[in-house]
Amino acid sequence: MSASVVFFPVANGDMTLITLDNGQTILIDIKIRAAADDEDDETYDVASDLKDRLKTDSEGRSYVDSFLLSHPDQDHITGLENHFYLGPPADYPKDSGLIFIREMWSSPLVFRRASTQHVLCADAKAWAKEARRRVQRFKDDKFGTVDGDRILIMGKDKDGKTDEITDIVVEQGELITSANRGSSGQFTGRLLAPMLVAEDDELVALLEKNNSSVIINFSLTGGGNADKCRFLTGGDAGVAIWERLWHNHKDSDPDWFTYDLMQAPHHCSWRTLSYDRWSEMGEKVKVCEDARSALGQAKFGATIVASCKPILKDDSDPPHERAKREYVSILKPDTVKGEFICTSEYTNANDRPLEFTVTFSGVSKKLRAAAAAATIVGVSAVASSARGHG
Ligand SMILES: [Zn+2]
Repeated sequence: MSASVVFFPVANGDMTLITLDNGQTILIDIKIRAAADDEDDETYDVASDLKDRLKTDSEGRSYVDSFLLSHPDQDHITGLENHFYLGPPADYPKDSGLIFIREMWSSPLVFRRASTQHVLCADAKAWAKEARRRVQRFKDDKFGTVDGDRILIMGKDKDGKTDEITDIVVEQGELITSANRGSSGQFTGRLLAPMLVAEDDELVALLEKNNSSVIINFSLTGGGNADKCRFLTGGDAGVAIWERLWHNHKDSDPDWFTYDLMQAPHHCSWRTLSYDRWSEMGEKVKVCEDARSALGQAKFGATIVASCKPILKDDSDPPHERAKREYVSILKPDTVKGEFICTSEYTNANDRPLEFTVTFSGVSKKLRAAAAAATIVGVSAVASSARGHG
């Protein structure tokens, strides 16, 4: 068993599985469309592939150790009720095939947005209901929670809403050091957002509107060696968030943004990198330099993954071809020599998800299952792009 990061092809949406060095799993978002469940449809069957990668417990349940929902939008939570068990662990319907979530990682905004004008889809409502059940379990019995009852809240909420449950709240800037209370030393995850903004109503509104996504920079252990892969993932966080994060941390903690692997936010949307509208300005649009800096701390041999449909030179957004060009420019210098990969394009060419393995020698793109060797990202970036379909 080695550590890995798998990006499932879900068109515009996110679905990523991290397997830690000790075999524990962290699932980030899901988008399991009806078409992907349909045997007669060509859409890649992400649910079966996911289950094949998960372990089964003594009661016959497939499970994930931790499930992070970056934010409760449809393209990040579709398929929850169809494929996952929600409710008290003791009531799990035997042989149902539903995936058991040992620990949820949820933004506090699931509590808030459900009660505002923002309309949650049915799967998001189900997530919020289960999250509230687990928070209540923790309040009832702080030390008695078991697998299937656990939850971590990603970020302190405003107005003291999370004050009663500080033991299960990860504050902005803090590190997460274990999945489902498993052994430490497998990874750390620096929580960069959501940010707690209390002083300025206008800013709060701006940041909440499109930017409630959880942003974490993971540092994964490979082959028993710490920090072999930095993986930056941030849901659909937009330009205002990245700009502000860089502004706040560039002098004290620029290292919080460095990555070997990054999931291009919001499915390679232009709105992550700029305030200017492409539809109005075309090639005259300007990149927001602070946002680009936050997203531009690529290490040598880094890969930027765009979880989206094929990227065409047209007016659709996301994904946007101008955004792709900006990411390619981040990866181009001799100090980086990285690679940009779109999940849908990759799977269309290879008929399998995009997968990276993390070992003592670093992170590398996995070749065909039969080939044990993998191109080492960072040692031979030229070879890895030349073998892009390998
Ligand atoms: Zn999205």
